[in-house]
Formats: sequence, C-alpha cells, structure tokens
Amino acid sequence: MTMLLPSAPTTPARTGAPATPAAVAARRPAVGSVHSWDLSTGVDGPGTRFVTFLSGCPLTCLYCHNPDTWRMRDGRRTTADEIVAEAGKYTRFIAAADGGTTISGGEPLLQPVFTGELLHRFKHELGLHTALDTSGFLGARATDALLRDTDLVLLDIKSWDRATYRKVTGRPLQPTLDFARRLADLGKEVHVRFVLVPGLTDDPANVEGVAAFAASLGNVGRVDVLPFHKLGEAKWQTLGRTFALHDTPCPTSEQTALARSVFTAHGLHAV
Ligand code: SF4
Repeated sequence: MTMLLPSAPTTPARTGAPATPAAVAARRPAVGSVHSWDLSTGVDGPGTRFVTFLSGCPLTCLYCHNPDTWRMRDGRRTTADEIVAEAGKYTRFIAAADGGTTISGGEPLLQPVFTGELLHRFKHELGLHTALDTSGFLGARATDALLRDTDLVLLDIKSWDRATYRKVTGRPLQPTLDFARRLADLGKEVHVRFVLVPGLTDDPANVEGVAAFAASLGNVGRVDVLPFHKLGEAKWQTLGRTFALHDTPCPTSEQTALARSVFTAHGLHAV
C-alpha cells in the first residue's frame, strides 16, 4: 500500500464490536500524495479538463518532462475532499466544454486507492467524464471498480521493442501489454500515446509494432504520436539529474507525419 494515510482511531466502536480494518479505513479521509492540479485543454483527454497530478512514478523515462513528480515523498499530502471541492468549482465550465477530469502524474496507479476514490467521486458526485493517464506498468493494481469509474484510459505504449522500452523507462514492457489486453477485454475506451524520439523509438519496426498491437486491441479510439521535446530539461537540471537526451534532436514535422501514417495504415485515428 503506497497511499499516505493519517493516523486513524483503532479503538472499538461504542457498540462494543471491534472495528474491522475495512471499517477503520472507511472512517479515514482519503489522502494521497499530490504534486499539483490544473485546467488544461486538448492534451490530457477530450475537451477542457481538471487534471490532478499525483506524485510518485516507478518509471524513469529518459524524456520525462515532469521528473519533479517522481518521488512520492515530494508531494503534498492532500485529501480527496480538497481536490473534489476544487474541481467542483469548474464543473459547469468543464461540462460546457465537453471536458472532464484526468488523473495523471507521476503514475496514478502507484496510489490506487486514492486514485479510485477520486475517479469515483469525480464521476458520481460531480457527474464528470473521467480519464486515467497511465504507463500501464502498474495496471494490475487497478481494480475492476476503479476501471468502472474510468471512462477513458490514456495509455502510454512507449516502445514495442522490449530492449528499447527498458532503455527508455528502466522497466519491462510486458505489464503494459497485459493491461492493454485487459482493457480491451473490458471494452474500455483507450487512447494510446507514443512519444517519437529520433534514434530511440523511431525505428520503423518499432513504430510498426506499436501500431499493429494497438490496432489488434479493437478499443483504441485515438493514437497520439507525440514528438519528443526538451521543455522539461530545465527541471532535470534543477533536480541535479543528467538529461541523457540533451543532444537528441526533436523530430521534424515530416518524421512525425510519417509515424502517424503508420498508425493510420492500420486503421487507427492518429493525431
Ligand atoms: S511514466 Fe510519465 S511521469 Fe513517469 S517517468 Fe515516464 S514520462 Fe515521467
């Protein structure tokens, strides 16, 4: 369990019956480690969205533009009540813009109970569309209930070639593929995200592999081919980390268009 929880009463209820662990947990306010939240349009799911960035990530992507979210202990302990109240200020605005809410990070499934609580309340209390932005590496931690409260999964498939995936992320690929298959079996809508990095992920066989796999799922409504950029490099420097892709060029618009065409050739909607 990675969720941060405040101390909670463990004494028996006045009825005399000892409190079960589940009953104790139910009395606790849901608290998580949160980096920040923001309103965004067009980048974290459809429409204008209230995006909650949770702290903590098990991956160490070479191109990460939010390395300041990597450590859960750097986040602020925040209650679900506070976040839902904040999102609630924008409910009418978000609904009018055909938007919703997105839980991002970091990796939201590093705090699956807190993430599930937020998704549930966003969906059922605020009546908003919900999206989960994840690498899928911890997909096994997503309960069926959490996924029922998730309208859309933004799933990063960072590489098809396993060695490249490990080089990019420091972790194995298979859990992400397993999670993608589970989402397909559930019929859950997925948008795949693929970051195009020249000399790293842009090998034609690699792009073809991601495209063929995504097309085989049957539940991928959109693919975002995201051109690598260096906007997060200053954060790496501030954190005293070496940005290994400093000398890597950003893809040209032609290279990005070519990668998108590979997905389109598989019948996918690539942007
Ligand atoms: S999964 Fe996302 S937050 Fe985690 S290291 Fe990779 S890019 Fe950064």
